[in-house]
Amino acid sequence: MKRVNSIQKKLEKTVVSKEYLKDLKTFANSFVASANAINGHYQSMATEFRESPYYLAIRDTAIQNSLQSLTSTGINQNVIEPLRTMLMTAVTSGQSYAALTESMRDEILSSEENIGSLSRYAGTYTVTALSRFTGQYMTAVNKDFGWKWYRYVGSNIKTTREFCIHMTKKEWIHESEFETVLSGEIDGEQVQINPANDLPRGMFDDTDPTNFTVNVGGWNCRHQLYPVHDASVPDDVKKKLEEKQIKKDKKETVQKIKEHKSEIEPFKGKVVESQNFVSGKMTILRRSLDDIYEHAIEDDNIRNFLKTFDINKLKTIEHKGWGENRSYPEDHKKFDKNNPNKKKHEEADYFNYYTINISDTKYWANVKYHKHYGEVLYTIEKNKPEHMIKGIKNEPLKTSTPPSRGLARLTSKTHRKDTINFHTIYKNRKKSEKISIALPAK
Ligand SMILES: [Zn+2]
Repeated sequence: MKRVNSIQKKLEKTVVSKEYLKDLKTFANSFVASANAINGHYQSMATEFRESPYYLAIRDTAIQNSLQSLTSTGINQNVIEPLRTMLMTAVTSGQSYAALTESMRDEILSSEENIGSLSRYAGTYTVTALSRFTGQYMTAVNKDFGWKWYRYVGSNIKTTREFCIHMTKKEWIHESEFETVLSGEIDGEQVQINPANDLPRGMFDDTDPTNFTVNVGGWNCRHQLYPVHDASVPDDVKKKLEEKQIKKDKKETVQKIKEHKSEIEPFKGKVVESQNFVSGKMTILRRSLDDIYEHAIEDDNIRNFLKTFDINKLKTIEHKGWGENRSYPEDHKKFDKNNPNKKKHEEADYFNYYTINISDTKYWANVKYHKHYGEVLYTIEKNKPEHMIKGIKNEPLKTSTPPSRGLARLTSKTHRKDTINFHTIYKNRKKSEKISIALPAK
């Protein structure tokens, strides 16, 4: 046993020789070179780049960790320990000295047919450590830049895995595509998956979209995912991704609308109350969600609003005006010569227009004054309604004081219940002015 231990000490000394340490120094320098290359990459595209102490700390920690793994601790675990086991087995099984020497040599040293344990360990380790470091360093720097496009680069060799071949062909990858490519789907093609971790073959088990830029293709992968500025990505690549994303988003929106609709009572709808509504309440019908979607299908803010639909968000809207329920113009395909007064929306008395803030953008909510439901949300659009009349319908607009919310509520009450009051309010109107009084059914 003592002999085995002393042999082990000697082995450590032999394995971690002077020359080996010199190689390690070269290896450590390659980290510095890699960091410098990354700095240069950013400097070439962004003049504001400054190397921060934080980047240096990342670099130096990585160097220290790697050196540790390649000297005492790592070598002990990965190279010396297996040899020790071999020695112990030889001792207990009474193997001949000659046979032991032979098998030890085979294990440690590389031959033409066989890569020795040290080379094997150090070789795999250095390639992996350096590329992991490059990924980590780049990811840290990129956090400050927020670039979302990446370029998959590196030369392919005979043993390049399927994943890397497809990725180098694809070349430009947006971070939103990480999840899809990690599922093995690269531009519509499926690469082989390792059933043990559901990742493309060769990947580290822990690879996910958050560390993909560090892990890249996995063990022995010589490829890099470099963050690149938007401007360096070819336009057709960007356009293709955008179209794909919109298509996917529309599909998701339709699905979400289905889910939200199932929570709305089919006949009564869902009612929300707020003093901001002219009538004090607004009804969302299942139909409302479809109408909003159909009128703003290309608007990603509206799609997002529908995906995360929350009826309470409507409470923040502001009333701006109203519009008549108009007939079809003569050139409209639905215009009926025999019934020229046919309304576009026969179920509506008139429309109320509100502004609503969605994703920091001003939108116009078009709200039907429905004959049965009262105010029903109809559409949300970017453009101001063309035929909007400012103020509240049937209420003269006072130029000095804009209609207050309280007044709006009063009006809505009279609107619904009290026709006498209704007329008192409007008695000041010019006699010549034609008033169309709309009383929705209760
Ligand atoms: Zn690779």
